[in-house]
Amino acid sequence: MTNNSNKIAIVTGASRGIGAAIAERLAKDGFTVVINYAGSEAAAEELARKIEEKGGKALTAKADVSDAEAVRRMFDTAEAAFGGVDVLVNNAGIMQLAKIADADDAHFDRHMAINLKGTFNTLREAGKRLRDGGRIINLSTSIVGLKLETYGVYAATKAAVETLTGIMSKEMRGRSITVNAVAPGPTATDLFLIGKSDELIDRLAKMNPLERLGTPEDIAAAVAFLAGPDGRWINGQTLRANGGMV
Ligand code: NAP
Repeated sequence: MTNNSNKIAIVTGASRGIGAAIAERLAKDGFTVVINYAGSEAAAEELARKIEEKGGKALTAKADVSDAEAVRRMFDTAEAAFGGVDVLVNNAGIMQLAKIADADDAHFDRHMAINLKGTFNTLREAGKRLRDGGRIINLSTSIVGLKLETYGVYAATKAAVETLTGIMSKEMRGRSITVNAVAPGPTATDLFLIGKSDELIDRLAKMNPLERLGTPEDIAAAVAFLAGPDGRWINGQTLRANGGMV
């Protein structure tokens, strides 16, 4: 067993994409994982089964992160099942692209509700309930640094998440809880791939000097570093995981 055994990690948006890779990697590293999802129940259950087949421990928890009450219930469920929570990975998120001049109110409100309010909802619970020595890792995006056209509202929610990260790291003073963000570049998941031409995907993949897209496992490795014993001295930081794009 590793140093992470008996530690409980909630990963939001873990039914698919980067979140699923994070849950799998944390389980491999010894954490008991709570696989949160909003709609993809079958995928979440399948992932839990896969983790348990490999000797890990996992539980699924349906909760729309934009719903504060549902988030509270998710923490209740984790505490009832495992006695406490040590790690929160705020991965659930959406991304739709529109120029600021063309973005309608629904576009703005949806991003705010899931990416920003959703992160706030889980951070608020974690701030009260995480066990001492815990870890919080929030998913941002390297677009906060790149500032590409059409990503305005999405990137604004993630810039706010980076600000919450830095401030909360200070608010956890005295409890040995670190709060960091991981900011991926283009990563091969539905969120990035759907709606883009092969030519555009290729162009974005070549923006970094390693000339490829990130994989969900690349991002999970960075999260696992921050969640595990080797990440203990990193606090209040945003780690850009993008092959050197920005
Ligand atoms: P994805 O493939 O679209 O998966 C999104 C996950 O979030 C799904 O498991 C989905 O669950 C969940 N989710 C969506 N809305 C939710 C809600 N309201 N409540 C709870 N769960 C919800 O996305 P991804 O590419 O893995 O992205 C994961 C994170 O990385 C996001 O925060 C994203 O902004 C960030 N990121 C991604 C990239 C990239 O290139 N892929 C780059 C930078 C940052 P259901 O299917 O159950 O709804």
